[in-house]
Amino acid sequence: MTTTTPTITLNNGVPIPQLGFGVFQVPDDETAAAVGHALDAGYRSIDTAAVYGNEKGVGDALAASGLPRDEYFVTTKVWNEDQGYDSTLAAFDASLARLRLDHVDLYLIHWPAPARDRYADTWRAMERLLADGRVRAVGVSNFQPAHLRRLREDSDLVPAVNQVELHPRLQQRELRAFHAEHGIATEAWSPLAQGALLADPVITGLAERYGRTPAQVILRWHLQLGNVVIPKSVTPERIRQNIDVFGFDLADEDIAAITALDSGTRIGPDPDAFA
Ligand code: NDP
Repeated sequence: MTTTTPTITLNNGVPIPQLGFGVFQVPDDETAAAVGHALDAGYRSIDTAAVYGNEKGVGDALAASGLPRDEYFVTTKVWNEDQGYDSTLAAFDASLARLRLDHVDLYLIHWPAPARDRYADTWRAMERLLADGRVRAVGVSNFQPAHLRRLREDSDLVPAVNQVELHPRLQQRELRAFHAEHGIATEAWSPLAQGALLADPVITGLAERYGRTPAQVILRWHLQLGNVVIPKSVTPERIRQNIDVFGFDLADEDIAAITALDSGTRIGPDPDAFA
């Protein structure tokens, strides 16, 4: 069974599937199989990054699928060490070669890495890639409001997306409000908190009541908030389960019960400190 995923329209008119497949921590030689399962299950958006070391596996699966290029959406990211104008352009060429594509749909600055103080130069390279038609949209990842404001000082190009850690324990309310105000789509990484929330009694209680799994309940919460989500799994049954989330709605009071789980707890690094 395949599922049709709804899209969200980015600020330059490009549609992005609201649910995609993440491949962080999937070894390159296992990535083609995992992405193959995802494509079979109906995913049409894949989230990778140069630093994941598995762009080749993603490219292999896309080539093997035989899908026309305009039927899938690929995101990749420039790594911190490659930030800077010329080095970003070179890193982009290398990513494209590993993916064996002639363009990517979304290219992101992976971290602001403020200690390097290069993200404004990196953003100029993103502008260039967009102008040259080598990417359909550009955005950032792990940017805090201060970093987004800094980009605005030098550039009229508003990021289409900010991909940030976001799950019921870290709901990023201020950042989401900032995004809404400036037309930036919120994309949630580690949407399942890497599994940490799946045994939470609020989540398991809702899962039982809706006849769904805990992961499906959490993903549904994200979707109803308007987030783009990119859950990762290498397990075929979970891969299928995680996209089968469009046939039910959480009631407002159940959304509120999940919203009450926010404790501001991060899994990943602090974006102000990470370099
Ligand atoms: P997720 O929140 O997607 O959780 C993945 C973990 O949950 C895996 O251990 C997986 O196990 C397990 N899991 C997945 N589905 C289920 C299910 N239905 N039931 C039970 N367990 C499940 O974590 P990620 O950190 O991978 O985040 C998702 C994606 O976000 C990444 O793959 C990457 O693309 C992106 N990301 C971006 C970052 C950034 O800095 N921009 C940082 C981190 C992630 P298993 O695989 O064994 O099935």
